[in-house]
Amino acid sequence: MPLTETNEHKALREAVAAFANNHPRAARGTGDRSFWQEAAELGYIGVNLPEAYGGGGGGITELSLVLEEMGAAGNPLLMMIVSPAICGTVISRFGTEAQKREWLPALADGSRLMAFGITEPDAGSNSHRITTTARKDGTDWLLTGRKVFVSGVDIADATLIVGRTEDARTGRLKPCLFIVPRDTPGFQRRKIDMELDAVEKQFELTLDDVRLPADALVGGGPSHASGSGGEDAGLLQLFAGLNPERIMTAAFAIGMGRHALSRAVAYARERTVWSAPIGAHQAIAHPLAQAHIDLELARLMTQKAAHLYDAGDDAGAGEAANMAKYAAAEACVKAVDQAVHTLGGNGLTREFGLASLITAARVSRIAPVSREMILNYVSHQTLGLPKSY
Ligand SMILES: Cc1cc2nc3c(=O)[nH]c(=O)nc-3n(C[C@H](O)[C@H](O)[C@H](O)COP(=O)(O)OP(=O)(O)OC[C@H]3O[C@@H](n4cnc5c(N)ncnc54)[C@H](O)[C@@H]3O)c2cc1C
Repeated sequence: MPLTETNEHKALREAVAAFANNHPRAARGTGDRSFWQEAAELGYIGVNLPEAYGGGGGGITELSLVLEEMGAAGNPLLMMIVSPAICGTVISRFGTEAQKREWLPALADGSRLMAFGITEPDAGSNSHRITTTARKDGTDWLLTGRKVFVSGVDIADATLIVGRTEDARTGRLKPCLFIVPRDTPGFQRRKIDMELDAVEKQFELTLDDVRLPADALVGGGPSHASGSGGEDAGLLQLFAGLNPERIMTAAFAIGMGRHALSRAVAYARERTVWSAPIGAHQAIAHPLAQAHIDLELARLMTQKAAHLYDAGDDAGAGEAANMAKYAAAEACVKAVDQAVHTLGGNGLTREFGLASLITAARVSRIAPVSREMILNYVSHQTLGLPKSY
């Protein structure tokens, strides 16, 4: 793995940064589809999707780079974590030919979006406890359950819902992924009142005997011999989506941290209350320098995770993606905190717009997997320590 970026990647970064910086704040975010649409038309949203289905033929390396630059420009597109990274990946790797043809070109050209719902109120971090259950009714499926904190369901054309099938033969429950169109009868959403200043909203979902055709199941009907589709493939599908989600969340956090840091540095260069600008005081300069170092280190791990994932090493990418997400979230929270502090009273004004990042930065510490669950993963998987739960 090269430790420096290729010229192509540098050029992509520059182009995305120029594009994202060129848009007025009001036109930004996933909520305003025109920005998303324009980004998609430039090939940014579907850069990781297969060329045969209208994508750019790149990987999570390129997609995470795009998201980081969007965030660094103050325009984090949260749904990039979900629509092309999780849903696009799962469908490209495990979808039936019909699912690929239906969804991938539309996810790539920005005309359609897909949300992703796994979190449940009574399961939380313990996704083994999810109870959203699919049962067969003729050739159809009936899906029943609840989800919480699912982002962007209102703007997504469908949500990829993680459920379980009731296996009639053995009574075991197995994870299974279903594509649920937004307006399917019985699929209800309630907006959660989050203290987050973001265009993408979070929803609680109720699925009440939601009737879905057989082809709503990712990978199609009964198990494929290859293990790539059907009812038995849910675990593989889920894991295929989770590494990109973590890598993209890391990129999201690094972008936000860079944005906050650059605003603070610009302020510290100018603001003068004694004889020199406040940035000349080491009490201001050093924490900003540390924040920069932490963000750079987190980016290195994120690039490693993306490289492993794109090289097809799902297992190796798992550890790196977790570590990258952890490092990036911690670096982001620290960078934002220091940036707000650097601006003094202005750090808390709406005009300067940094204070709301204090809450936003915490998201990457909690979702999609919390700081503690990553520390648990490293304790058990990497260090071989015993489990307490
Ligand atoms: C803004 C936002 C957007 C989101 N978007 C989505 C989405 O699009 N789709 C989706 O499915 N979900 C989404 N989520 C949900 C997110 O993934 C969950 O919030 C996260 O997985 C944590 O689950 P929980 O909130 O139930 O916390 P809990 O599991 O209840 O955890 C609470 C606290 O306990 C700690 N804890 C739990 N278990 C342990 C343990 N064994 N050891 C140590 N500490 C532990 C956790 O680290 C945490 O600090 C989103 C969340 C937010 C905040």
